[in-house]
Amino acid sequence: MVIIMQTGAPESEVDAVLRAVEGAGFRPWVNPGVERKVIALLGAVDAEKAELVDHFSALPGVERVTLISEPYKLASRRTRAEPSLVDIGTVAIGGPRLTVIAGPCSVENREQMIETARTVKQAGANALRGGAFKPRTSPYSFQGLGVAGLQILAEARELVGLPIVTEVLHPNDLDDIVQYADIIQVGARNMQNFRLLQEVGQTGKPVILKRNPGCRVRDLLMACEYVMLEGNPNVILCERGITTFEDATRYTLDLNAIPVMKRLSHLPVIADPSHATGDWHYVKAVALAAVAAGADGLMIEVHPNPAAALSDGPQSLRPDKFSDLMQSLTGLATAIGRELPVPCE
Ligand code: PEP
Ligand code: MN
Repeated sequence: MVIIMQTGAPESEVDAVLRAVEGAGFRPWVNPGVERKVIALLGAVDAEKAELVDHFSALPGVERVTLISEPYKLASRRTRAEPSLVDIGTVAIGGPRLTVIAGPCSVENREQMIETARTVKQAGANALRGGAFKPRTSPYSFQGLGVAGLQILAEARELVGLPIVTEVLHPNDLDDIVQYADIIQVGARNMQNFRLLQEVGQTGKPVILKRNPGCRVRDLLMACEYVMLEGNPNVILCERGITTFEDATRYTLDLNAIPVMKRLSHLPVIADPSHATGDWHYVKAVALAAVAAGADGLMIEVHPNPAAALSDGPQSLRPDKFSDLMQSLTGLATAIGRELPVPCE
């Protein structure tokens, strides 16, 4: 159930509604940052539904009360009709402007990271990615540089002025990650690691939540609730390919999920064609398709020398290919009425 307050309802009326909600045994959640406050009631609203709707509708300052049938509440469009913007420092993801996050799969060393940072910035990227804690299928594969990798990312940020995105695998690493990163990524493998999601929520930092290849859109939206319930509304959804019978590509980007998520949720949606395809040959085509389908941004793996990459080389774009993608994106953005990624200074 959500209670939609009248535009400009005074704080005293909002407070009175909050007290009434608590008095009825529910936990209220106020949608932050909107002119017209929306109060969501968290918890099962069962038998007394109709009575409660009448009770809350009659309170001063209340415009209307709606029942939300979906299991996800805070991420739902019904809680917030207007799209949410997530501020990542240089830009806000979710508005008319497209956002491009680019960088290597893993931070490997200082030179590789700084060279990549410079080239992606020059091509127009808005944020820099790089994994310091890597979720590898094999424990014998490169696991990331850990804190040393975070320090290299922070140095790259200093040099090029782009905010940094990095993945968390374990709550024990969160303090270090919060110290260095601007945006925390929860990867596909941890999408339903609910304790981790809660801890990430408590940091208050913007979170990129990647869809697990075996999970439905609604499971992803339920995972969002774990982050948002901790008081962190800054969640960005990421479609990165799902498991299908097709093996010509690593996964299959679920293009449908983009307009579906945009309709069901107010949260920004980005797409990751690098992990979806697993092959650089297809990254540009799938990236453009995702943006045409309504994605608010892209996450792209870029490496100065993909053949020597310690992880995900085959899907990484060389800097010249990344620049080419950015150029095509510029043309596409104009055609579909989106704005271009902010040019670098
Ligand atoms: C990554 O972004 O490097 C990564 C491991 O992605 P995913 O969780 O989507 O596999
Ligand atoms: Mn990767």
